Amino acid sequence: MGQSEKLQKVEITLADCLACSGCITSAESVLITQQSREEILRVFQEKTEQQNIGSTDSKYIVVSLSVQPVLSLAHRYELSPEQTLRKLAGFFYRLGADAVLDMTAADDFALLEAAKEFVERYKANKEGAKNQLPMLSSSCPGWVCYAEKTHGSFILPHISVTKSPQQIMGSLVKYHLAETMGLSPEQIYHVTVMPCYDKKLEASREDFYNQEKQTRDVDCVITSIELEQMFNEDGLVLNEVIEGEIKQPFGSYNKKLKNRLWGHSGSGSGGYADFIFRYAARNLFDEENVTVNFKPLRNPDFQEAELKRNDEVLLRFAVINGFKNIQNIVQKMKRNKCVYDYVEIMACPCGCLNGGAQVRPEGNIQPRELATTLENMYRELPLSEPEKNNAVTNLYKTWLGGEHTDKVGAYFSTQYHEIQKLNTALAIKW
Ligand code: SF4
Repeated sequence: MGQSEKLQKVEITLADCLACSGCITSAESVLITQQSREEILRVFQEKTEQQNIGSTDSKYIVVSLSVQPVLSLAHRYELSPEQTLRKLAGFFYRLGADAVLDMTAADDFALLEAAKEFVERYKANKEGAKNQLPMLSSSCPGWVCYAEKTHGSFILPHISVTKSPQQIMGSLVKYHLAETMGLSPEQIYHVTVMPCYDKKLEASREDFYNQEKQTRDVDCVITSIELEQMFNEDGLVLNEVIEGEIKQPFGSYNKKLKNRLWGHSGSGSGGYADFIFRYAARNLFDEENVTVNFKPLRNPDFQEAELKRNDEVLLRFAVINGFKNIQNIVQKMKRNKCVYDYVEIMACPCGCLNGGAQVRPEGNIQPRELATTLENMYRELPLSEPEKNNAVTNLYKTWLGGEHTDKVGAYFSTQYHEIQKLNTALAIKW
């Protein structure tokens, strides 16, 4: 079976699973885990063999590390987040990677693009355009997959067309980095490290496949728990790995700052609602430096914030995590009772820090307790302000030719598709 057929099979079966229950069974996770580990080790092995025979045809391997798995592994191995980042880099260089990168530029592009999209939708809504608001976040493939299979044409126009950070990173690596290195996109093999299996589904979408070059923006996704398993199988302790450099091919956030790992204010899932709220307050209502105060409503995974002026509500945003809350908000939209302008939606309870493929809690610790610990670690990271990220500002000016160009649309936005729901029992093809 070819790799694309394997990916297709995983896509169909997992999509069914997510659409019915929002969880991934252990059988499925074992299958996907084995595929990713075998795939990544095969690619590194092939590279070594080609180098040994003096071939220059081997792929240039890039690994992109997202912040949530770094925190999960930092907690597991009792290292600081920055140390963990550099030790993971050391691990991947040892395997044969050519460049290990952090994902701050992609995270910041995703926030800026989503915020611009919200402002445009808000204005279009005022002018009478339909299906603009609420704008629903799109960075969680668990949620997007569920929406495509379950609520199709009703909900899809509301989902933000801004790509997730993983797929923006895919564009940066396969198109900008490749261009600067004189490589074609298919000559790069791009691995991302993510907190959930759903990111594998996202990477395997046809929308992120370049037919002409026969390459994906992200070739392989590996998760926190898979890395822990790889270390265990190799008898490796992350603490003992020699640290490696996090490269900065897109430029630096700020030359004076040495850290490579950044958080964002708001949720540990990327801080979408918080950033877009402040951006919209400034750009739509001239309200500078607003303090965003998300308050829990019926449960901690359903929070709401308002921007008010003289008792008039100007903006009303929500952050919701977990499928029960997702079903609730969708029902509200169907009954025309949704009061929000923007909703940050994440499929996992507690969001991405509690992703389904983060390292499992040990002993009697409950997943929510571990998520709180990771949340506290996230809060201690230096905060990125996307508009002050020099790498991002420079790429808009140089590579993208401005902030509202066709290139920005081509590299940073995507589309969604209504999917016919299959009979789940019949669709499982083990
Ligand atoms: S909320 Fe969960 S499923 Fe969604 S992107 Fe985050 S970790 Fe993945």
